[in-house]
Amino acid sequence: MRVFDGKLLIGGNWVSSISGLCEEVKSPYNGEVVGIAAVANVEDIDMAISAAEEGFAIWRRTPAHQRAAIMMKAAALADERIEEIAQIISSENGKSLLEARGEAGRCGEIIRLGAFEGSQLYGDSLPLDANKGTGQEKIGFTLRQPVGVVVAISPFNYPALLVMHKLSPALSSGNSVVLKPAQSTPLTALALAQCFVDAGLPAGVLNVVTGSGTQLGDALVRDSRVRKISFTGSTAVGTRITQLAGVKKLSLELGASSPVIVMDDADLELAARAVSIGGYINAGQVCISVQRVIVHEKIKRDFLDALKPLVEKINVGDPKADGTEVGTLINERETNRVVASIRNAVDQGAVLITGGEKNGNIITPAIVSEVDPSSNIAQEELFGPAVVVSTTDSLKQALHIANSTPYGLGSGIFTREVNSAIQAAREIDSGVVHVNWTPLWRADLMPYGGFKASGIGKEGVRSAIEEMTEVKTVILHGQSWQ
Ligand code: NAD
Repeated sequence: MRVFDGKLLIGGNWVSSISGLCEEVKSPYNGEVVGIAAVANVEDIDMAISAAEEGFAIWRRTPAHQRAAIMMKAAALADERIEEIAQIISSENGKSLLEARGEAGRCGEIIRLGAFEGSQLYGDSLPLDANKGTGQEKIGFTLRQPVGVVVAISPFNYPALLVMHKLSPALSSGNSVVLKPAQSTPLTALALAQCFVDAGLPAGVLNVVTGSGTQLGDALVRDSRVRKISFTGSTAVGTRITQLAGVKKLSLELGASSPVIVMDDADLELAARAVSIGGYINAGQVCISVQRVIVHEKIKRDFLDALKPLVEKINVGDPKADGTEVGTLINERETNRVVASIRNAVDQGAVLITGGEKNGNIITPAIVSEVDPSSNIAQEELFGPAVVVSTTDSLKQALHIANSTPYGLGSGIFTREVNSAIQAAREIDSGVVHVNWTPLWRADLMPYGGFKASGIGKEGVRSAIEEMTEVKTVILHGQSWQ
């Protein structure tokens, strides 16, 4: 038994839930029990928020260099535990160990980025004497300070990375946190929390509650002691949060249907290689996964000929087996949903070029061509290992199709023409635009977040710190002198 199995982290202690209830965490690959998680209820939430208030009282008064030192220790522990964390990620999420090791390996780096950025909370001095009627007897400046208790709610698809993108900026800038990880992947979050506990984070600064989002969400989101909600998940849950949160800061990282345009002057080998990665990593369960490829009709045949063998080469299977690149989807319901979505598209006239076969919770990587850009498989988030291909005869039409969904998270264009690249960068309504790569690329320091139904606000450590802190204006009122 690990110290966190079946426990919540509240007030610096690993404790059982008030009800005493626990649930099994199972492998999506073979159903094996891989751990035990506590099932919290609203009373546990109340205790966690109270503990976070107490933790904040200490942490906000802790000098930045001391906070940074604890963060650096936590980063070193996360580095030491990469293999352990990777094994947990792969076990509970079903992604390949190869992918899980990559994910676990980024945690320490994200904490270090936070340790640095959290020690750089600069303010401005205000030129008050430029305001008519105000002389030189006053001095004004701004202080940037932590907001207070941050509720962090994270999804299943990157159980370490997306937890780190909340904990690192929140903690390093002096906030306390109540973290609610996805119900299907709680163990990774608990293992990461242990790094902070072992690094000496004061009690109450980080609290972790596990259980059902439907049961716990409203209590977390509504509570007026919470000053900020940092949520990553579906647009449906994000929308509900906007309706319940009341007056508090919100960052919402939501769903997507990311487009990639391939123009007739593109490097087709590059485009095919990038799409064969960007559409299928993590079994397509990535918010910035390539979902829609909008290819110029003149090169469509050549592009598909280049893409198909690459997609068919992807090694899918047992997440823990050597050589497996892509593992399972998160559960049977999701697997059935994705397969049904591909079948419906084919029933409506699309052509399945390869893949789409179900084996347990594995779906073979699929390419669906001749897709109507207004059909469900293009418009709704697929979140599965398939890309859908439609054609265009001009950049103008391609940009129109790219912008035609409710979403706007990431996008890409493949072209050798600078004008086309600039036009796409200006005209696509998405939070990130990639030129000559797909949306599936992220540096942890870059601003990252969606437009339209893909969300509000930005992550990326520096941007997240801005959103997790607030500016206070201070005026020193002196007397005028002769
Ligand atoms: P989800 O919305 O079902 O769940 C996300 C989290 O919210 C989980 O912890 C869940 O327990 C919790 N939750 C559920 N109901 C809630 C409620 N009523 N109130 C508060 N919290 C609640 O999402 P998921 O299935 O875990 O993840 C997949 C979704 O996440 C996809 O839509 C994907 O695009 C999105 N996502 C977005 C980004 C991004 O950066 N934009 C990154 C990763 C995933």
